[in-house]
Amino acid sequence: MALLARAIVSDSLPPSLLFAGPRGVGKRRVAIALAQTLNCLEPVQGDVFKTDACGHCAACSRIGRGIHSDVLVVEPDDTGSIKIEQVREVVDRAQYRPFEGHRRVVIVDEADAMGFPAQSALLKTLEEPPSASVFVLVSSRADSLLSTVLSRCYRLRFGPLAVGEIVKMLISDHGHTEPEARALAVDADGSLGRALAADTVAVAEARSDSQKLLVEVARESNPTKRLAAMKTFLGGKSTPAHEQREHLSVRLRALSSLLRDLDVLSAGADPQILANTDLSAELGQLARAYDNDRSTRAFGIVDRALRALERKASPKNVAAWLVLRI
Ligand SMILES: [Zn+2]
Repeated sequence: MALLARAIVSDSLPPSLLFAGPRGVGKRRVAIALAQTLNCLEPVQGDVFKTDACGHCAACSRIGRGIHSDVLVVEPDDTGSIKIEQVREVVDRAQYRPFEGHRRVVIVDEADAMGFPAQSALLKTLEEPPSASVFVLVSSRADSLLSTVLSRCYRLRFGPLAVGEIVKMLISDHGHTEPEARALAVDADGSLGRALAADTVAVAEARSDSQKLLVEVARESNPTKRLAAMKTFLGGKSTPAHEQREHLSVRLRALSSLLRDLDVLSAGADPQILANTDLSAELGQLARAYDNDRSTRAFGIVDRALRALERKASPKNVAAWLVLRI
């Protein structure tokens, strides 16, 4: 991103860009933000881009709502593909000078949904884009694009988002509370999209169950009592067998994140860097039982349990195996 920022400031932005990376990590969001930065009427000093969009002038707001005449977004239609006609239309429109803004930005979202003819129709324009236009291809499967297309685009790789970044967006843009946002973010594996698609109540409950289990296991070494404490992890009698697996997995992922935090705490790190910062007091208590060795070992056990579940091991057996060892 720093590179993108410098390029905007020095006016040396490559005219054809490819934003590549897994789903749900904000590639399209950054493409829209770039369009706003290039067209903002009242740019401000920013932390992401050196000149940043203000976010509320007429241009920013029209781009945000998808109705700015110089920011064109092409995306798959109902059939899931981007047709050659859609590509030709934006290529044509990109030949004209911008109507209302400084730069025309053409965003092709899920660019890998273009068939080879559609990609070929775009080639020449990517090679010699009209002077006031910027093309941004967005893709989670960039390697399936034609090599001729790839070679004409400057590629920026997007990685998974940090828990803290997802939390920030869930709170500021999606109205979640901090505990909800933390629970969703630790379960999201670096993807904002996945956090948004998850069932908030279920994920928050899973994290709370995991925390309770750790408290119980920390003070209870009796196997029968430990096995009883594990029952919530399988969802009780009313949960059908086919739902037990997901019920258990989401709890194991939460457990894994809590154990990693305990590891961090016992290493004496600042509680501010925990993934579950909102639980730092509770984790501080737990850290007395879960010193460094134990949390590291338990983390490995949870990891093995998750892999066993993926290999279709019985949730009941996995849960029992785990609770006697962590
Ligand atoms: Zn603005």
